[in-house]
Amino acid sequence: MIKYNLTCECKCTFDSWFANSQEFERLRRNNLITCIECSSNKIKKSIMAPSVSNLKKASNDDSKFKKNIKKKVLEYQKFIKQNCKYVGENFAQEARSIHYNNKKSEGIYGKATAEEINELHEEGIETTTVPWYHKSEN
Ligand SMILES: [Zn+2]
Repeated sequence: MIKYNLTCECKCTFDSWFANSQEFERLRRNNLITCIECSSNKIKKSIMAPSVSNLKKASNDDSKFKKNIKKKVLEYQKFIKQNCKYVGENFAQEARSIHYNNKKSEGIYGKATAEEINELHEEGIETTTVPWYHKSEN
């Protein structure tokens, strides 16, 4: 959005918002911009006051936010690594074994496909999916 300060032939001035400068030109050419005082369409653009609503700041906040998420995930990963047994691709199998053999619930973590997770869920085995950062990803 862009704000233009407009001046009419009657010397009245007013502000109006437009999608962009082309849009302003289009409306002006088609006499669609009229004075709020005298309804004349002999309008001139005086001062251009574009709005730049802190785009830079917003993107900084966003990356900071992402960084925070990553930090939390990494902390969680560390906790899991310290407290759970890594079972790799055998995750679904191991989870079933714990569930059906009433093994003392030992925390495990590993890889599973979405399909396997669904099957486990249908069997009443609760799993938690966490985003996982690998060292190669920065
Ligand atoms: Zn006017």
